[in-house]
Amino acid sequence: MDAITTEEREAIDAFMAQRSVTVVAPPAPKRRGRPPKNPDAVPIDERKARAAKRALAKLPGVRDRRRFKAGPIANGSYAKTAPADATGTIYPTRVSPVLEGEAVLKDGAHSSKIGGDVLVGRLRGAKIFTLTLEERATCPRSCRHWVGCYGNAMQAARRWQHGPELIDRLANEVAALCAEHAHVLIRLHTLGDFWSVEYLAFWVGQLDLHDNLTIFGFTAWGPGTPIGDGVDRVRRAGPDRFMIRTSNRTGTWGSFTLDFPTEAPRIGDALVCPEQRDANAGHVKKTHCGSCGACWNDDRPIAFICH
Ligand code: SF4
Repeated sequence: MDAITTEEREAIDAFMAQRSVTVVAPPAPKRRGRPPKNPDAVPIDERKARAAKRALAKLPGVRDRRRFKAGPIANGSYAKTAPADATGTIYPTRVSPVLEGEAVLKDGAHSSKIGGDVLVGRLRGAKIFTLTLEERATCPRSCRHWVGCYGNAMQAARRWQHGPELIDRLANEVAALCAEHAHVLIRLHTLGDFWSVEYLAFWVGQLDLHDNLTIFGFTAWGPGTPIGDGVDRVRRAGPDRFMIRTSNRTGTWGSFTLDFPTEAPRIGDALVCPEQRDANAGHVKKTHCGSCGACWNDDRPIAFICH
């Protein structure tokens, strides 16, 4: 995802300035015997989180299965940068060919940010799986985050070598998962991007083959590139099944990054990623993609705090 430009930042500042009004406190209401608030009362966010947990407990088989519940803090700057001439990951030993006996599609429960189950919205109950490719090696050179890609801080992530073997394996695993689960939601790509038009076409074929498959994620391939235009066409044809956002732009199905932290839920017409805001506030609400769903339920742009 790409950094916001100076012009966009100025537009945001102007937008925020329009909304900064002086609030005059109303006169204090007369007290009618109500006891003063208990200073030890549970904060409203925590009460909401507990209520949400109780509501979820009533849904059979749908629960938050994440192994870890605390993700990184996003402060608006890159955690680590790569050399400008890097053409792949800075952790080449973490790139692996397809292996016998190890799935390339990973249960989203291994990711504190994503989660393994959709808990809300139209896809509630879907199982989430993730695919991780090699950053930069599969991405457009035009990506604004070429040097500061968040993969630079993901030393442990296993990246699957892209190519025909991976496509064959994906076809088998998607078929097995779609046969096993009522609904499958795949997050493309935790790292990396569509490396060719043929690879994009592979996913279109999978959507045709499996009615219970949906896809979400991001691409840095912009309008005017064969892959970027292809993504746009597929998304228009199936906006409820192929929810791939275009990075570095606002507007419908856009996403962009902020180079400053914020607690604001919205910047202009964009939603600021609730998982990041909750992580920065101490994970009070335990928000993750499975409990949020904005990326696939809503075509409004999403803003991410750079990390
Ligand atoms: S907006 Fe919601 S679904 Fe999208 S990345 Fe953030 S938490 Fe996940």
